[in-house]
Amino acid sequence: MSFLNVVEIESALIGLASSYPSVTQLITLPYFTVEGRQSHALRIGTGPCRRSAVLIISGAHAREWGGPDICINFAADLLEAYSLGTALIYGGTAYSAAEIKSIIERLDVIVFPDVNPDGRNYSQNTYPMWRKNRNPASSGGQASKIGVDPNRNYDFLWDFNAAFAPGAQAFGTLASSDPSSDIFHGIAAFSEAETKNVRYLFDQFPQISWFMDIHSFGGDILHSWGDDTNQSGSLSINFTNAAWNGQRGLPADAYGEYIGACDLANVAAAANAMKAAIAGVRGETYAVAQAFFLPSWGSPYPTSGASDDWTYSRFFTDPTKRKVRAYTLEFNTVKTFFPTWAEMQQIILDVDAGLVRFCLGAVPRFSLSYWLCWWRHRLNDAIWHRVFPPELWGPYGPWARIRRAVESILFPIVAPLLRLLGTGARRRSSGGSRRR
Ligand SMILES: [Zn+2]
Repeated sequence: MSFLNVVEIESALIGLASSYPSVTQLITLPYFTVEGRQSHALRIGTGPCRRSAVLIISGAHAREWGGPDICINFAADLLEAYSLGTALIYGGTAYSAAEIKSIIERLDVIVFPDVNPDGRNYSQNTYPMWRKNRNPASSGGQASKIGVDPNRNYDFLWDFNAAFAPGAQAFGTLASSDPSSDIFHGIAAFSEAETKNVRYLFDQFPQISWFMDIHSFGGDILHSWGDDTNQSGSLSINFTNAAWNGQRGLPADAYGEYIGACDLANVAAAANAMKAAIAGVRGETYAVAQAFFLPSWGSPYPTSGASDDWTYSRFFTDPTKRKVRAYTLEFNTVKTFFPTWAEMQQIILDVDAGLVRFCLGAVPRFSLSYWLCWWRHRLNDAIWHRVFPPELWGPYGPWARIRRAVESILFPIVAPLLRLLGTGARRRSSGGSRRR
């Protein structure tokens, strides 16, 4: 065993969908990569009352090899534990069968393990340190200028030259208009098939309310925002306000990105629960932080066009969209993109334990619509069908036969009467209309 290649990832998804057909849906994503690959995602969920969804994506950056492996194992673990009705145990972190059941029956968990298959294929076979996709559109025929960074291509402050302070580019993380850069942001927001496929999932599943983008490395769980320091004081200071163009991306200045105090407490709490679940497996310590202060980087890490910020920002630009708790996870506390497979197997257990906790956090604790739905189905199954069994009350049962018999007697008498009354009513109303 080793890291999955791009063909194995797709066949693993197809295999899981065919092994667990009643609990899964294989989603064929519509946008083909420039090398002609079609990607899939897997939706896991059953039960009639699912009202919320979690989207987990990975593989945006080609060289961050373990992400898709984490996702495939996570999906397989959830499905196996649910179908067997067993607990799920990762080292010292354990989840009961009831907890797994609540995830599968009350949530949709959508996993899109390999966002950038062209890049992964190139990294695994030709040049391991490759990061971007393989789009040659801006290369002018030069191999060194191939590729767009999918995680700078989302529609959040994509035009970094206008939105950010010139000084913010000194951190080397924001984005670049130079095609030879590892953080080239493309020719427009959502210009790339890889990001369009992610957007497609949000469009198809508007109930997505939790989002996780898995990257490496560092051992970090990152929450909103990634463009600037968080602030909860002034709603008008935010990414939609053009008056602040040219000032974003620097710490300790007038601009901070607005996040409500409750939102911030909620996103941090879920990240800390995930951190504890990861630590429980074998003692790995992941850091929880705002994405702008990526701890393993050591200095501010402003970004534009990133998946997590776009995901959270949609609610602010269009209130008909759900508010999504959005995260980026950087797995592996050792600073390498290429852990040994033996080490990667340990990391998979760490992160999958964290992802189960993440999903448990997304299970609605109390939702009126969920409980109404649950009771309706419970009553339907347990009471309604027992008190009013279809064989008694259905169209061929005795009561329907009695009703039909009574109708057949009454109809010849009642129908002419009704016709007479109807004619009388029509005459009166037409008389009324003549008087006008
Ligand atoms: Zn990455």
